[in-house]
Amino acid sequence: MELMESLLKLSQVDAQVRGLRSRLQSAQRYLDTQTRQLGDLNQQLQELQTRRKHMQATIANHESEMATIDERIEKLRDELNSSVTNKQYSAVLTELNTIKANRSEIETQEIGELELVESVEAEIKTIQSHIEERSKMRDLAAVQLKECESEIGQRLGELETEREQAADDVPMKALDIFDTLADIYEGEAMASIKEVSFRHREYACGACNIQLPFETVSVLMGGVSTVVRCTACTRILYLQDEVRGALVKK
Ligand SMILES: [Zn+2]
Repeated sequence: MELMESLLKLSQVDAQVRGLRSRLQSAQRYLDTQTRQLGDLNQQLQELQTRRKHMQATIANHESEMATIDERIEKLRDELNSSVTNKQYSAVLTELNTIKANRSEIETQEIGELELVESVEAEIKTIQSHIEERSKMRDLAAVQLKECESEIGQRLGELETEREQAADDVPMKALDIFDTLADIYEGEAMASIKEVSFRHREYACGACNIQLPFETVSVLMGGVSTVVRCTACTRILYLQDEVRGALVKK
């Protein structure tokens, strides 16, 4: 097989392989995105649950502090009732007032903490419903990937074998150039030569439109054993039958 012919065959199969692979990759990427977002949500949920736990512990501490204070208040009330001197009475009263003020301070704090717990709980509920939705999307994405794999997996395998065979027909050096360009240009490693003006012998690269010297066309007309590349985009150039035909007729 002539070099150009085998390169064009390779280019055609390569494009099909890339097309199928990109379908698989985008299904995989979509699944990855869903999985990552679900992970983020679960982490947020964990953080909120930890916050709630700490807050609840603080509230429990305050509750027990207040219970201790209540006991002390009871005791002081008894002492107040049984005080015999004015001095004793006023000392107990002072302590009672101080401790009551203390208690009310703790109670105010606790009210604030309970409100915070409520708002954290609301956030937890919201996150949980987001997790539920996101899980459904993740599961759907996994099903879609499986479907995609079973739908095109076999065809992709066949095409990959075909691509290997086509690559075997291309000399090593040309194959290296092709592979590099195909990666750069997402499969478009080759460019046809475009006839701009037959009369003025003006030709251009079909991919990047740069004008090409007529020599390039002549070289390709003669049949080549190495690749001829566009001076601007460096793609491998080839002549389409109609352009070649017009030149032959001449
Ligand atoms: Zn070009």
